[in-house]
Amino acid sequence: MSKPSLRDLEHHDAFVERHIGPNDAEIAQMLRAVGHDSLDAMTDAIVPGSIKATGALDLPGGMTEVEALAKIRAIAARNDVFRSFIGQGYYGTHTPNVILRNVLENPAWYTAYTPYQAEISQGRMEALINFQQMCADLTGMDIANASLLDEATAAAEAMTLARRSAKSKSNLFFVADDVHPQTLEVVRTRAGGLGIDLQVGPAADAATVDSFGVLLQYPNTYGRIGDHAAVADAVHARGALVAVATDLLALTLLKAPGEWGADIVVGNSQRFGVPFGFGGPHAAFMACRDAFKRSMPGRLIGVSIDAEGKPAYRLTLQTREQHIRREKATSNICTAQVLLAVMAAMYAVYHGPEGLVRIARRTHRQAAILAAALRQAGVSVGEQFFDTLHVTGVDAEQVHLYASHQRINLRKIDATSVGISLDETTTRADLAALAKIFGADLTDSAIEALDDATADALPASLLRASEFLTHPVFNTHHSEHELLRYLRALADKDLAMDRTMIPLGSCTMKLNATAEMIPVTWPEFANIHPLAPASQTRGYQELVDSLEAMLVEITGYDAISFQPNSGAQGEYAGLLAIRAWHASRGEGHRDICLIPESAHGTNPASAQLVGMKVVVTKCDANGNVDLDDLRTQAEKHSANLAALMITYPSTHGVFEEDIVAICETVHAHGGQVYTDGANMNALVGVAKPGKWGSDVSHLNLHKTFCIPHGGGGPGVGPCAVKSHLAPFLPDGHRDADGTVGQVSAAAHGSASILPISWMYIALMGKAGLRKATQVALLNANYISKRLAPHYRTLYTGRNGLVAHECILDLRPLEKATGVSAEDVAKRLIDFGFHAPTLSFPVAGTLMVEPTESESLHELDRFIDAMIQIRDEIRAIEEGKLDRDDNPLRHAPHTANAVAASEWTHAYPRELAVFPLASLRQQKYWPPVARVDNVHGDKNVFCACIPVDAYKDEAVEA
Ligand SMILES: *Cc1c(COP(=O)(O)O)cnc(C)c1O
Repeated sequence: MSKPSLRDLEHHDAFVERHIGPNDAEIAQMLRAVGHDSLDAMTDAIVPGSIKATGALDLPGGMTEVEALAKIRAIAARNDVFRSFIGQGYYGTHTPNVILRNVLENPAWYTAYTPYQAEISQGRMEALINFQQMCADLTGMDIANASLLDEATAAAEAMTLARRSAKSKSNLFFVADDVHPQTLEVVRTRAGGLGIDLQVGPAADAATVDSFGVLLQYPNTYGRIGDHAAVADAVHARGALVAVATDLLALTLLKAPGEWGADIVVGNSQRFGVPFGFGGPHAAFMACRDAFKRSMPGRLIGVSIDAEGKPAYRLTLQTREQHIRREKATSNICTAQVLLAVMAAMYAVYHGPEGLVRIARRTHRQAAILAAALRQAGVSVGEQFFDTLHVTGVDAEQVHLYASHQRINLRKIDATSVGISLDETTTRADLAALAKIFGADLTDSAIEALDDATADALPASLLRASEFLTHPVFNTHHSEHELLRYLRALADKDLAMDRTMIPLGSCTMKLNATAEMIPVTWPEFANIHPLAPASQTRGYQELVDSLEAMLVEITGYDAISFQPNSGAQGEYAGLLAIRAWHASRGEGHRDICLIPESAHGTNPASAQLVGMKVVVTKCDANGNVDLDDLRTQAEKHSANLAALMITYPSTHGVFEEDIVAICETVHAHGGQVYTDGANMNALVGVAKPGKWGSDVSHLNLHKTFCIPHGGGGPGVGPCAVKSHLAPFLPDGHRDADGTVGQVSAAAHGSASILPISWMYIALMGKAGLRKATQVALLNANYISKRLAPHYRTLYTGRNGLVAHECILDLRPLEKATGVSAEDVAKRLIDFGFHAPTLSFPVAGTLMVEPTESESLHELDRFIDAMIQIRDEIRAIEEGKLDRDDNPLRHAPHTANAVAASEWTHAYPRELAVFPLASLRQQKYWPPVARVDNVHGDKNVFCACIPVDAYKDEAVEA
């Protein structure tokens, strides 16, 4: 026997083979089914020659996991982790280890999808409703949503909610000058896009300025706790609304904003167990009065009932959202911050109200003691604070220099003042080190003495008297065993990618490899404050530069900003760049945005946010952009054409032949081409939008580049542009000239999850990335071909092939049998599958995107389920199953239903829950039956379910 070469043996460590589901033999078998000899031949048959990349990506070859981790370890080591007391919206926190390992590092939580399929998402929706209850309780408001992107964008959303809801017809929004600087910047950008006048001034002026709304901060950015009740009354008297940015931990001790007149309350839940991460991701929140709930932005979890009449969670009031309302939506938010909201909610569940108060009180005592020590040393410190000291009258430069010698960061305010924010992680040693910077000697006994001698610095009139977190969920799971089991019980209710493929069209639910996730929690990435000096963040700079260079090579663009923290935010940033570019050329009047009718809802919603007018263009019978209609519209609006937003390959799952001509048409009329890059998974290594004529794209790193979906976030939506648009990227990008401002709070957005995408690209290498794309195309075509005898694929491109996803048309079957696409989606749950995308972009269809990571075995399992379902539909057609009482109509089936003594259906129980024999080996039991959507929207209830809804009744023997 000849011995294998070392190189052959080494090759088997290649990550590519772990990431890509089918092995080479299976790929060959599948290619035969699809009718091609090789991946390259198939790719040539699918991708139009006019856009095909010539040559390989100029990237290194793939690495092993060991090699890539060593390389990113070296990058991480260039970050220098100081103790940060900078505050300004970001505070140290201890992530409880039980939450770190069992939520943040647990694929059952981080690989879940957005809870559109309510029946398989009850666990994460319960976690989110805990988040909503927590935010509503602490802020003293009626209702809260299930997370927003960051505090600054939440404040911008508060401004637009106020504009929609206020009686006042003023066009002015007033922002107090003591909000966090990044909040003001993001609000300013948003106001500019919408043509809202902004006025900034002392909070007290809010009482007299004519506005539709005001933004105050409580406690303010310098830590001071102001009493705004009189201001709020005055604002209300004018028919305007009061938005308040606040801090959840402070609110455990302070009178809730809802108790002194706030209408909308926003903030960040970061300090509830989520590390700095150089700026994100963290879950922001918005709470408001009940009257505004139908106008609120973002996702909202509500309680409805299921088909058995039992309480069940679902996303409620979706008609506000971009995927339904499009340019009339309340915001463009799609991906939010679910995973981080789950962490923050569990932090509150674990600590409970008393634990949170203890943490808050300890932090406050430390702050009061430090303030006293500084005053004794002759330093002036502001009064009435919770955790943040505003130190004035010092030589700030000297102070920061001393601090840096002790590896401590303080907030830079100006030449004579600094800020010090304490937090949950602050120790007595920290207090001593902080005091020493100002020349004070704070020994342990001095701390004791000052503790005795120093009163609290909380204003007596603003102390909290009301209860919060009284629901049993916040008062039960305080031991680690209890929380561990609660987390497990919730995760077990849900289907995530650790149990099944999630074949969601357009959402690219591919492998989120463990090795990609590992660096995220390294202290060198996790524990860096977003405002830490550049000298401490060289690792992050290298990471950002390196990832930018790799993505520039992959996309064909010239510059990329990582600031947008979702795809929709990337769209917003890209459209701002287009607008600013037009303005720079004296064409600021261009405001028409052409959007094909098949576009994702975020496209029109984002266009609206930058003040563009949406003109919808038609699609032809093949699902392609109707070139004639596009030409007509472009011509008609030639003088005012700003942009076309197009998705490529199209949301209909095809590579349109005309894309180059489309770009030329738009350019000929003075417009810019925005390519929605959510479908990059069909393009990487095969074609580059920046090279075929597109000017700007956002990428969804949480789709193509392996950042997990987290149950609906976090996301990263970098904005990639050609060089002429680079000066108009958001502030913080090296090429930007500052004209568009900031789109989110931190310079690099959710920087701490960039290592995931960096790892993916490094692990795959140039050949692996291209192969991944090709197998993504193959897997989709394999499903389409194998299902062809059973379900029609609605649209195909060249040579009868689809791109990386295919749309299965259920409408003819519905016509014949009454079985809807939704019935099929719910029936898949009985087979243990997450449904494909339902009724987008075409009503009555299912869009399937398997991705390259699904093995042949898993594809076949899915195909078998779909064929069995087709057989059931056929049985209805043939009269063997009842048209109304059949397993599709009543899916999904719960254990409760089939275990009932009485079974009333016209089909057997066995068919209900074990339609395939293999399910007896492994069965997912949905915790609820089909959830009633109409009931949920009519009876909006968005808080924790009262316990008496679940009374235990013993069964009589
Ligand atoms: C996912 C998606 C978006 C929006 O991205 P988010 O990160 O959810 O904001 C936009 N367009 C398309 C085609 C998408 O699939």
